[in-house]
Amino acid sequence: MTKRTPLIAGNWKMNKGTTAEATVLITEVRDKAANVSGVEIAVCPPFTVLHALKSVLGDNSPIALGAQDVYWKSAGAYTGQVSAEMLSDAGVSFVLIGHSERRGRFGVAEPDFTEGVLKYFGETDASVNRKTVAALASDLKPIVCVGETLNERENGDTDGVIRAQVEGALDGIFTAQIAQIVFAYEPVWAIGTGKTCSSDEADRVCGIIRATVSDLYDAETGGAVRILYGGSMKPDNASELLVQPNIDGGLIGGASLKASDFVSIAVAAASLPS
Ligand code: PEP
Repeated sequence: MTKRTPLIAGNWKMNKGTTAEATVLITEVRDKAANVSGVEIAVCPPFTVLHALKSVLGDNSPIALGAQDVYWKSAGAYTGQVSAEMLSDAGVSFVLIGHSERRGRFGVAEPDFTEGVLKYFGETDASVNRKTVAALASDLKPIVCVGETLNERENGDTDGVIRAQVEGALDGIFTAQIAQIVFAYEPVWAIGTGKTCSSDEADRVCGIIRATVSDLYDAETGGAVRILYGGSMKPDNASELLVQPNIDGGLIGGASLKASDFVSIAVAAASLPS
């Protein structure tokens, strides 16, 4: 089987966004992870602290920086947007695309700001695809997030939703580019809720992502693509999830805000039997 290097990526979301607090957290992560090998580590802080964290980490740091979103145009009248070239220039190497907090499942003609409704940013499979193409063109590694809502799971639609999201994201992308892409399976009902998907089920759905990539390209490409699990991963459940054959790491929200928890998860990934 293809050997895949595990990746542990922290999604800080809209937290630790002042230079002072972001510097404290990245310094702790850097120091605690200094002797951890065999795993790639990335942190995705708010845009505004990327430059500051790049200067804390320096060039050639084993800790990579990621952004939480990207716009597909390179420049122009797009108020508030950040392009892939700008991220690359800021020293970013990964970018989250299509996180469930940005996807709008039901259209956004009338944005709904109710907590938890998931309609406010209106990301679609088509915009995820454009962003993925743009990120690849600037040598960024997209972490494409896919996942079903509780309603979709209860209706038995999980597998179809996941396949459609993977196919939509990869539209027009060539075989040789797939090695740069990471998928993250994040069941929406398990994000920030403390509810984890069972390790067997997480592995099964990650297997569907892999099979979809194999069907679209070939078995070698599907076998090589990295797939993370995300959704309330913590030090006490990380090993059980990370040991699964189709899971190659984690996308960590809440637990990435505490350096000791985040690095413990990275250590769990580094300690997997080879
Ligand atoms: C996330 O938002 O990507 C995530 C996985 O969050 P949490 O770990 O807090 O569930």
